[in-house]
Amino acid sequence: MRLLIFALVSVILTGCGKAPEKQTSQFYAMNTFMSVTAYGENAEAALKGVKAEIQALESLFSVTDPESDIAKINRGDSGIYAVHPKTAEVVAFSLDMAKKTGGALDPTMYPVLSQWGFTTGQNRVPAADEIQRALSLTGYDRVSVKGESVCAEKGVMIDLGAVAKGFAGDEAIRILKSNGVTSALLDLGGNIQTIGNKPDGSDWKIGLRNPKGDGVIGIIAASDCAVVTSGNYERYFVSDQGDAYGHIIDPASGYPVQSDVLSVTVIGESGKVCDALSTALFVMGMEKAVDFYRENGEIDMLITTDDGVYATSGAYEAFTPEGGVPVFRIPE
Ligand code: ADP
Ligand code: MG
Repeated sequence: MRLLIFALVSVILTGCGKAPEKQTSQFYAMNTFMSVTAYGENAEAALKGVKAEIQALESLFSVTDPESDIAKINRGDSGIYAVHPKTAEVVAFSLDMAKKTGGALDPTMYPVLSQWGFTTGQNRVPAADEIQRALSLTGYDRVSVKGESVCAEKGVMIDLGAVAKGFAGDEAIRILKSNGVTSALLDLGGNIQTIGNKPDGSDWKIGLRNPKGDGVIGIIAASDCAVVTSGNYERYFVSDQGDAYGHIIDPASGYPVQSDVLSVTVIGESGKVCDALSTALFVMGMEKAVDFYRENGEIDMLITTDDGVYATSGAYEAFTPEGGVPVFRIPE
């Protein structure tokens, strides 16, 4: 009898075809924990390639590694810098998104970020004149990219923290696909990117973190897309006076963004676009973010506030709230 059951189970298993092989790779890169799960015959080799690529990008983009392309630019020796093609690509992309977002995203915020200690983790509240001095060194119109050279005016320094993970995610997806992976889930420090569906054909389920406490406030169903969230609740510090300061800076003021918005999640095809926009829309706040969405379309977004979650149509369909959080549809 036991043998018969065993035989039956074997028939059922093999009858359904071999289950796709699941491989997971977890590592620390770009100042965050990353986890990539992929299914398929070449998944293991693909994941090795992904990890190597992300580490290679980190060594190009890091602001703290003195050998990186970005550190070379930030030392400001010459004004024109020969960089790796990927560095040229990500800087050009950031500048393009800075223009599109009216400077809400600004890759030249490094001098201000370092005053606040966000580049080193040694946080402090700078004096108003220190912020003004640092702000006078910023401005995305003072950097340009020609081929594989970056030109930067004297004193201008770059920080790619708002787009590097999304850019890395797109590179990772490309490597996975070229290895025949048709189902994968990437979590690059909260930037989620997916290939296809789960192996059983259902959507990936992505938790939307509660920006005011533990756990999640809902689930986003996703397939073949990026889901990227920005908020001031992930990385922030509390001053001796007890005030909280988040790591996303309003380039207009040099101070951490404080608004009606707790977090912005952007859902779209491209990881780097979603990453750039989640940061930029968070800087813009509710009203301007909704205007931006209406003018540009192409992405969906979920904005969390004290009242609940505001969702564009596609995001509204994909989102299942938990714990009774109210969800409002943003009119087209
Ligand atoms: P996270 O890194 O937590 O996923 P973001 O993608 O929103 O969050 O990126 C925030 C990082 O971007 C900051 O830690 C800082 O390095 C940088 N940054 C902060 N404010 C801006 C801004 N207005 N424009 C561009 N980069 C910014
Ligand atoms: Mg971002």
